[in-house]
Amino acid sequence: MVASKKQRIWHRSNEKSDHFDGLPDDIIICILRKLCSTASCPSDFISVLLTCKRLNTLGFHPLVLRKANPKSFAVRVRNWSESAHRFLKECAKSGNSEACYTLGMIEFYCLRNRRSGISLLAKAAIKSHARALYSLAVIQFNGSGGTKDDKNLRAGVILCAQAAGLGHFTALRELGHCLQDGYGASQNIAEGRRLLIQANTLEAMSQLGSMALPRVLLHQLSTSSSTSLVLNIVSSQEIDVANRFLVEWYGLRDDELGPEGLRMCSNARCGRPETRRHEFRRCSICGIRFYCSRGCQALDWKLKHKGECNPSWDLFFAENGVAHVEDGPVEQWFHAVDEGNDDVESTQDEDGVNTFIAI
Ligand SMILES: [Zn+2]
Ligand SMILES: [Zn+2]
Repeated sequence: MVASKKQRIWHRSNEKSDHFDGLPDDIIICILRKLCSTASCPSDFISVLLTCKRLNTLGFHPLVLRKANPKSFAVRVRNWSESAHRFLKECAKSGNSEACYTLGMIEFYCLRNRRSGISLLAKAAIKSHARALYSLAVIQFNGSGGTKDDKNLRAGVILCAQAAGLGHFTALRELGHCLQDGYGASQNIAEGRRLLIQANTLEAMSQLGSMALPRVLLHQLSTSSSTSLVLNIVSSQEIDVANRFLVEWYGLRDDELGPEGLRMCSNARCGRPETRRHEFRRCSICGIRFYCSRGCQALDWKLKHKGECNPSWDLFFAENGVAHVEDGPVEQWFHAVDEGNDDVESTQDEDGVNTFIAI
């Protein structure tokens, strides 16, 4: 009897000393916001939510999830689960545009929920999310999720221009090709070439990294262009969680697309699959590489394909006829290569006609 009285007294004094319960929700939300915005991987944040019911509830507060940085929801495909899906959904619902973009890409390309994917990408795009704008442009150019008739080249060009204005150099390169070839926009070769050069400069800058950029150049950039441009160039160095997820997803399901006659984009860092047969453009020299966009084609050409691409004469004769060979673009291309001009890339225009562009 005496012992139980002592125990009650001990419990009461212990309850009083639990300062955590005495903390107001606002302060805990503030701490969780900080944690969520600086997490370096999903477990940094999730493990805290598992600590107690109160942290679990407050951790899902929109004020916390809106601040979640991409690394906190950078789930790998091997860890994909209902809970991971729910967490991403909650982040997107809170208005986190990076989460809207990531989940939009997963819904559209992996889970094949096209409508929901587009709507999430649009939600991010409205908030000037450059990669969401560019992804919507790719969808418009290809008519992805629909038929060939659903292609909207004009809309693709407008979305590309918006993404390019935010410093997305792949979108800028895409736009350059569009203007140069008159694809979805009035042809303007000089302006197209100017944009291609600008895109190469931005890309080179992103590879150098913000720390390596001379102070003077950073100052010029921040004064001559918008701050968001500089920030986007710098952030483009970071891994794209959505593209990595797509690559991993179809890496584990390579037998899923084959029977449907669908192909993956040959740019190994892209991960986009075709949503219908013959959706992607193919390399018009070898005919064995397929790309979701000119941006991916140009990037892969630079990084890898230039060294491995071999002309398929069968393909060339079939697509262009013998007349083109006498004085056609293939001769121009070989001529450029003979002269040691490495900056040559191949593209196809709207009708699948070969064009070879020295940039
Ligand atoms: Zn090729
Ligand atoms: Zn691609």
